Amino acid sequence: MVFGGQAFSMASPALLMRVVASAYSVAEKAATIVRNVMSAGDLGIVEKTGANDLQTKADRLVQMSICASLARKFPKVTIIGEEELSNDEVTEELIEDGHCEEILKKTCPAQYTGIKEEELVIWVDPLDGTKEYTEGLLDHVTVLIGIAYGGKAIAGVINQPYYNYEAGAGAELGRTIWGVLGIGAFGFQLTEAPAGKHIIITTRSHSSTLVNDCISALNPDSVIRVGGAGNKIIQLIEGKASAYVFASPGCKKWDTCAPEAILHAVGGKITDIHGNSFQYNKEVKHMNSAGVLATLRNYDYYASRIPYSVKQSLVP
Ligand code: AMP
Ligand code: MG
Ligand code: MG
Repeated sequence: MVFGGQAFSMASPALLMRVVASAYSVAEKAATIVRNVMSAGDLGIVEKTGANDLQTKADRLVQMSICASLARKFPKVTIIGEEELSNDEVTEELIEDGHCEEILKKTCPAQYTGIKEEELVIWVDPLDGTKEYTEGLLDHVTVLIGIAYGGKAIAGVINQPYYNYEAGAGAELGRTIWGVLGIGAFGFQLTEAPAGKHIIITTRSHSSTLVNDCISALNPDSVIRVGGAGNKIIQLIEGKASAYVFASPGCKKWDTCAPEAILHAVGGKITDIHGNSFQYNKEVKHMNSAGVLATLRNYDYYASRIPYSVKQSLVP
């Protein structure tokens, strides 16, 4: 009896919980890199497809840090990062091998306890909101680590390196939000948007006529334009906005995977503009070609008001 009890209590935590616990620490290290690159002052900006599609030294170093740290611990997991990097040697100082003990104490949902490394896909956006980062809109920036199984986003970590930065010196800078389907999401105060108000949150730097026409058709009380997919999902779960509406291609799987897991863990919903759910298996195309529609509550209200003409313009 005693032996059985011991064996039970000493069983190692499920793989999923170990991955999330490690991703938490890896994201905190990433946030430190994001802040250090900014304070050093040399952003090393490179244009990818154009002036609104940028990469900085922080995007590069953080991706190396996250991918190498997770790959070292979980060598059979598929890790897909946003940035295409040359095979530079990753220096040891970029490696994080810690984990969050609190996450390991949570019970893994039964349907995920048998997951094997080779069945997980991790989608990494090392720095979401790069355009805003280069413009000094630092609270728009997030680090996103999304974890998918069976094509679904099941867990995610979002770090906001500059959370609280307007509080000034002395305030603790940055926070980490994490969530797992079936457990919930932590690191923030879940809040619903004001009842009866339609507050739309959308892109700041990737607008188009279609993006704006779609928002107008929803007859909003107000529109918030900020950078970052991660940032916009945080605004939804903290009650600052009622719907994230982006009727355009441009957003990719690494932008939506971690935010989706956290939003779904608290009962929200995210789809493309047609209402199709996103798939996150490793073979899937990266672009979310048919845009984004996300809410914490009242998804059907917004989905039913997306104009047919907008849907026709966005092919999944
Ligand atoms: P935004 O709301 O404009 O910050 O976009 C959310 C995410 O999608 C960010 O990672 C953007 O870089 C990406 N994104 C959206 N539209 C585009 C675009 N037209 N070109 C490149 N990236 C885009
Ligand atoms: Mg991004
Ligand atoms: Mg990015």
